[in-house]
Amino acid sequence: MRRVLDASALLTGRQFPGELLVPPSVLPEIRRHGLTPQLEAILETQIEIRGPSPEALRRARAMSEATGDAHRLSPTDVDLIALALDVQAIVVTDDYSVQNVARALGVGFEPVMERGIREQWTWSYRCTGCRTVWPKWHDDCPTCGAPLRTARPRRQPR
Ligand SMILES: [Zn+2]
Repeated sequence: MRRVLDASALLTGRQFPGELLVPPSVLPEIRRHGLTPQLEAILETQIEIRGPSPEALRRARAMSEATGDAHRLSPTDVDLIALALDVQAIVVTDDYSVQNVARALGVGFEPVMERGIREQWTWSYRCTGCRTVWPKWHDDCPTCGAPLRTARPRRQPR
């Protein structure tokens, strides 16, 4: 899997699996934030720096106009999308407009940071006597005094 990394993805210093690419326009952004020796080593050894093709740039710009994201995208953002188009990579970014245009072009994307679980398990507790389900734990049932038991968790969309 190829990944095109945006500046914030690089700046985390996180190790991303697969083949990694960045457009040249990301580099000044990285330097502005301070290029650590560690980051420099990552850039030199693990990342291909490659500019997008004019055709991919044209498609990325046209789509950003179509989705209404054009004014929210920096030239670097457009480079990221276009490069991902060129090399059939996914874009690693938390930028909503980049994600939106990528989606519209059929380019995959993933957030910079792991989001953790997308669904929350909510536990509930069922009385062994009167069968009442309580959302919170009680040492014994507030209604009948029998012990509670953990009921099957239910899934709750966030
Ligand atoms: Zn009870």
